[in-house]
Amino acid sequence: MLLDPFSRKINYLRISVTDRCNLRCRYCMPEEGIPLISHEEILTYEEMLRIVRVFAREGISKVRLTGGEPLVRKGIVDFISRLSQIEGIEDLSLTTNGILLREFALDLKRAGLKRINISLDSLRRERFYRIARRDGYERVWEGIEASLSAGLFPIKINMVAIRGVNDDEIESFAQLTLRLPLTVRFIEYMPSGNGEEWKESDILTIPQIKSRLEKMGTLIPIPPDQWDGPARRFRMAGALGEIGLIGAVSSHFCGDCNRLRLTADGKIRTCLFSDEEVDMKEILRKGGSDGDLREQLLLALQRKPERHHINTYQFKKCQRNMSAIGG
Ligand code: SAM
Repeated sequence: MLLDPFSRKINYLRISVTDRCNLRCRYCMPEEGIPLISHEEILTYEEMLRIVRVFAREGISKVRLTGGEPLVRKGIVDFISRLSQIEGIEDLSLTTNGILLREFALDLKRAGLKRINISLDSLRRERFYRIARRDGYERVWEGIEASLSAGLFPIKINMVAIRGVNDDEIESFAQLTLRLPLTVRFIEYMPSGNGEEWKESDILTIPQIKSRLEKMGTLIPIPPDQWDGPARRFRMAGALGEIGLIGAVSSHFCGDCNRLRLTADGKIRTCLFSDEEVDMKEILRKGGSDGDLREQLLLALQRKPERHHINTYQFKKCQRNMSAIGG
C-alpha cells in the first residue's frame, strides 16, 4: 500500500497520454493552441505500460487516461487493452471530449475500458461552438449514445459551470438524468491553464449549484462508494441517472486525495495545482531498473503537498496548461 506523509492512501494514477487536443475550449487553451511537446519527448505506450506495471505492484489499482484528448493518440485502443491486462489494475477509465467517441465506444469497451467521463459544457449547438471554438455538439451526443449502446457504465458527463457562460443550463443538464442513465457532474471552474483570464466571480460554487438543483425537487443523497472520487452524489426522485457535485475550489477535498498524475512527457505531478514534478522519463531512457522507477514513485509520494492553496494568499496558478496535465 502507498501512503503519503499525511497518511493518505494513494491508489489512483491519471495518465495524460497526449497534450494534443481537437478542441480549443476557451477556459482551457488559447485559440492558437499551446506550444506542443515534441513527439520524442512524449512517452511511448511501452514506457507508460512499464510505469503502470511498477506502480501496480506498489498499490496503484485505478488508472484514468486523459489528455489533451486521449482519443486523438494513435493506438489508444490497443494500449487500453494492454493496460487492462496488468495485474492489480482493477479500474480503468477514460476522460474524453467525446468528439471521436462514436467511432471508438465499442472498441474501447471490448478493449477492457470500464467507465468513461465525457466533458460537455453546453446542450446548445451554437454555445458549444462558442465555448469549444469548434463544432461538435452533435458528434458528442452521438458519442454518448454510442457509449450507452456499447454498455460502458457508468457514463459521467462533466460540466464546468461558468457564470454568464453556461450557468443557465444547470437545470437542463440535471434533467438529462431523469430520462437517461447518465451521471451528470457539475464541476467548479478552476484557476488553471492558459485559457481566458479566470476570475473568482466566474465560479459558480457547488453550494450555489446545489441550491439551484434543490429548487427542481428533492436531491436524494447516494452513499459514497470506493470509486467515487471527490464527487458528492445525489439522485432526483424517479431519475434514471445521478448528479455529482465536485467543488475543487470552494470545498477542497485534499484530505481524501488518493491521486498522482503522469504527464505525457513523463513527469509525475503530485497535485493538480502544484508545479512540483518528479521525472520518470530520464530513468526510463537511461536504462533505469524497475527499482529505480519505484524509488522515483516513493520520492513523488514524499513530495505530495497536504493541500492546494486556491483561496489562500499562497496560491500561485500552475505553470503547465490543463491540457498537458489532463485535468
Ligand atoms: N480532452 C479531455 C476532455 O475534454 O475531457 C481530457 C482533458 S481535459 C483537460 C479534462 C477536463 O478538464 C475537462 O473536463 C475540462 O472541462 C476540464 N477543465 C479544463 N480546464 C478547466 C478549468 N479551468 N476548470 C475546471 N475544469 C477544467
